[in-house]
Amino acid sequence: MEEDAATMDKIVALCKRRGLIFASSEIYGGVGSTYDYGHYGVLLKTNVKNEWWRSMLSERDDIVALDSAILQHPRVWEASGHLAGFTDPLVDCRVCKSRFRADHLEERAVGLACPKKPSKLPGEGPDCDLTPAREFNLMFKTTVGPVEETGSVAYLRPETAQGIFINFKNVLQFSRKKPPFGIAQVGKSFRNEIAPGNFIFRTREFEQMEMEFFVPPADAPRWYETWKAERFDWYQRLGIRPGKLRLREHDADELSHYSSGTADVEYEFPIGWSELEGIANRGNFDLTQHTEFSGEKLEYFDQPTGERYVPHVIEPAAGADRATLAFLADAYDEEEVEGESRTVLKLHPRLAPVKVAVLPLVRKDGQPELARELFAGLRGTLQAELDEGGSIGKRYRRQDEIGTPYCVTVDHQSIEDRTVTVRERDSLAQERVGAGELLGHLAARLAAPWKSPKLG
Ligand code: ATP
Repeated sequence: MEEDAATMDKIVALCKRRGLIFASSEIYGGVGSTYDYGHYGVLLKTNVKNEWWRSMLSERDDIVALDSAILQHPRVWEASGHLAGFTDPLVDCRVCKSRFRADHLEERAVGLACPKKPSKLPGEGPDCDLTPAREFNLMFKTTVGPVEETGSVAYLRPETAQGIFINFKNVLQFSRKKPPFGIAQVGKSFRNEIAPGNFIFRTREFEQMEMEFFVPPADAPRWYETWKAERFDWYQRLGIRPGKLRLREHDADELSHYSSGTADVEYEFPIGWSELEGIANRGNFDLTQHTEFSGEKLEYFDQPTGERYVPHVIEPAAGADRATLAFLADAYDEEEVEGESRTVLKLHPRLAPVKVAVLPLVRKDGQPELARELFAGLRGTLQAELDEGGSIGKRYRRQDEIGTPYCVTVDHQSIEDRTVTVRERDSLAQERVGAGELLGHLAARLAAPWKSPKLG
């Protein structure tokens, strides 16, 4: 077992080879830092989002769901501060034409390098010629209406959170919730990032999973602590190794002006420790701003006490793509099995794109027919796949590489006694199970507690 088998190059190669994620617009030469998700990638990212929804909705009763529009009134972005403040000062190099974030240069951030060899930090090579830092708005601007000149300006949302704040009143009216309660949303966000890169870690179009939790002001510090712990724990429950996760509290000079506390859940990606999710205590900033800009009072009136207040907000903001990358990196492994090397994604069974593959050993003697019958009995309940072609070894490798926890093999004996072998991805242990018990057997094993076998 090799602790650090996962490199970014290997993950990218595996994702392409097995149809999880590939570069977008490839037949036109690519468009740079934009990715398309293939079949297994869709299943994997959907599982990540479903686990997030499960933790927000099914496992609690104080959060409701929302799906707000990507195009919103332009005033939303004035109120939120994105129009004025959503900028990253940038530095260009006149020689190599590369662009760097001024804050990254200042921090001498991990992975920062002048593209000219021998590799040096930007500005430190003999020919480097950097411009002063310049402001650059990260929002994508577009026009609503068919004629550009007369249409009105709109922005693609750079975060999902504002859609939640502007619906605070609607939700309060129909949901019969009172603080503390939350509104959760998953959806696409767009940022004209200056330095996208590292595969799906930073792209210009990405999916966020955000929840705004509204609380009585005095309770905000306590709820901030609760959500930090809960979100940190979520990644561990889904199998991320504890040693690869940390919670980093922002220093006072890193905080936005309205935030009284922000912490990042960080993961040790192959590129080093980086943000996976941010949890912030945003105070009453957002509701107050939207009240001011819209003229609509966004507050809570507590009938029994006659108390009126603007709730404070605790926000856990995660990225679905970045989380998917963390789960992939944590799961990726290479090992020797009986003298042969195999690549395997040791994903938590809940995240695995396919839960079970049914494989007839040979394509004759009634084996494909029995395999199809078993597959038909499983697929309504579990994400299942039938794979009939090629050598059994190759089919096992393929399932290992997409992280399928169980392979069910139909062989000669199966035709005689209707038993099959169930092969487990991580231990490679094989067990004989009767066809009639197969679904119950698999469902029980998939629901059993799981921890990463990379922990030894
Ligand atoms: P960073 O410092 O990495 O730019 P951020 O602090 O601006 O991130 P937030 O605005 O807090 O990020 O967004 C919440 C989450 O959304 C991030 O933790 C990350 O998981 C995800 N995210 C943000 N920007 C991107 C991006 N360009 N590509 C992919 N995911 C992103």
